[in-house]
Amino acid sequence: MRIDLHTHTWRCRHATGTVAEYVLAARVAGLDVIGLTDHAPLPPGLDPEACYAMPAEEFETHLAEMADAADAARAPGDPKVLVGIEADWLPGHPGHVEGLLSRDDFDVVLGSVHMLDGWAFDDPDLLDSWESRSVEAVWREYFSAVADAAASGMYDVIAHPDLVKKFGHRPAEEPVALYEDVATELARTGVAIEVSSAGLRKPVGEIYPGPSLLRTLCRAGVPATTSSDAHRPHEVGIGLDEVRVALAAAGYDRVVYFEGRERREVPL
Ligand SMILES: [Zn+2]
Ligand SMILES: [Zn+2]
Repeated sequence: MRIDLHTHTWRCRHATGTVAEYVLAARVAGLDVIGLTDHAPLPPGLDPEACYAMPAEEFETHLAEMADAADAARAPGDPKVLVGIEADWLPGHPGHVEGLLSRDDFDVVLGSVHMLDGWAFDDPDLLDSWESRSVEAVWREYFSAVADAAASGMYDVIAHPDLVKKFGHRPAEEPVALYEDVATELARTGVAIEVSSAGLRKPVGEIYPGPSLLRTLCRAGVPATTSSDAHRPHEVGIGLDEVRVALAAAGYDRVVYFEGRERREVPL
């Protein structure tokens, strides 16, 4: 089954394309499932340039647009359209994400760690901050945040599980103990991970998560889904073949998607 569970629209101000254009792109790409998962509004102050996420005042309109698109795509051959959201893990802002998610509109909620203590480590404009930090320490902090996000019970899927490698900052040795710990915690909480082609289009040039982490996640029994993290309609479904090969190589023979936040498992 061809599933792209993670896409964005113009609403977040750093992607292009409307909801309708993404659904059309999914049809053209021959997808069975597309998740519309734009960036949820951030608390005031965390998005000073207004370019990380959709403005809070557009949240309701965006939800209505997604619901309409899902209703309209019911003809035979249409992709299944999932109403979703990508919500940051923000331990410094208790209640913010819970407030946004306290409704039953969603098929799927992706949880992402893009910020550590307010530092958007994946923002190319903030790359300098890496120079004053130890890569090992940032990686430890990152994976500990991923484990906390999974344990919060707010998310169905952890997006791009090793995003911390985006610009190629890596510990001298592959941190296998860190991988074991996060895989154990994900398996315990039942939260799935996405395997995303987005890393192939970033400086690191590698699928999220990398092969060693993905094997560890598979061994631990963590469910997986597939995604592009498209930020333009023509990126919908991009790299899904590479993603599926990576999953098979790591030992996966099944993938998951979500409807009404219920997990559905299908053959890879
Ligand atoms: Zn984005
Ligand atoms: Zn995303």
